[in-house]
Amino acid sequence: MKHILLLTTGGTIASRPTAEGLAPGIGGDALAMALPFLAESYRITVRDILHLDSSNIQPEEWQLIAKAVYDAREDVDGIVITHGTDTMAYTASVLSFMLRGIGIPVVLTGSQLPIEHPLTDGADNLRTAFAMASSGAGGVFLAFDRKVLLGCRAVKTRTRDFDAFESVNWPLCGWVDGAGFHLDLSALPPAGGGPCRLQDALCKDVFLIKLTPGLDPEIFDMLLQMHYKGIVIEAFGAGGLHFIRRDLIAKLHKVAQAGMAVVVCSQCLYESSDFSLYQAGQRALAQGVIQGYDMTTEAAVTKLMWVLGQTREPARVRDLFSRSLAGEVSGGTEESVDR
Ligand code: ASP
Repeated sequence: MKHILLLTTGGTIASRPTAEGLAPGIGGDALAMALPFLAESYRITVRDILHLDSSNIQPEEWQLIAKAVYDAREDVDGIVITHGTDTMAYTASVLSFMLRGIGIPVVLTGSQLPIEHPLTDGADNLRTAFAMASSGAGGVFLAFDRKVLLGCRAVKTRTRDFDAFESVNWPLCGWVDGAGFHLDLSALPPAGGGPCRLQDALCKDVFLIKLTPGLDPEIFDMLLQMHYKGIVIEAFGAGGLHFIRRDLIAKLHKVAQAGMAVVVCSQCLYESSDFSLYQAGQRALAQGVIQGYDMTTEAAVTKLMWVLGQTREPARVRDLFSRSLAGEVSGGTEESVDR
């Protein structure tokens, strides 16, 4: 029997109705007891580390979760983390960077309906997560609606549907169908070149801006005043920012001079940005912005927090961003863990 650690953090899957609406109230033992088939198929160790709606899961909680995974990695075959769906893609992305090269499967899951609800999707999601956790494939994954996604490619795209997550610009790593559980070996993350180290330093001063036509460039002055160290800009289409009448490009020059790291991605969910395509993008590149290519916003924001937690040296920040550390960007150079 595979030994699986079940780490619980809260979320809808562990929630019960309260006077103020659903709130986390069920621990891991009760979760496991609700699904007797799990206990028959796996040796399960349960640890309740948080009881939070995932809206309250922030960088401090990411560090706590990463440490719990890291400390347990040599004692178990795989780890399932139950987590609220709202910020699960952020947690999955940041864990991919903090724990890159992890040699065992670390699988986040949750549900749209509480595990005690008669129509819950939690049972299916836990079944898929446990199958992935016992697969031997190293990396951070997200299991939902009978699918397994690479953690740093997952995005929550639906608020209520059981099919709540999509894998963006990356194939599924695994799935369940009438023939059982399937793993796509070609979709697994880069293995890394050495033992996993816990790299959990993060810079929390990272801001995300979604461009709207006519956005006032002065917002960047405010962010400088607030001591932000990094900005992710969701720009238009394949890569464009306005510079007529309201000159964002001039402002990018100013923030770059002040030492702020600026990453540009696309507002489009699918396919890659390429800021070299249009004048409105090339002018931004000339100010030294870093391209996010086909990264999800969740991966770009958490990668910038993580990279700035490792280094503030602009050349090194740029270098780390050009690499695929956990499969988060296509076409990047793969980095070995021991660098
Ligand atoms: N608000 C819940 C959470 O993210 C939603 C869920 O788990 O589906 O914790």
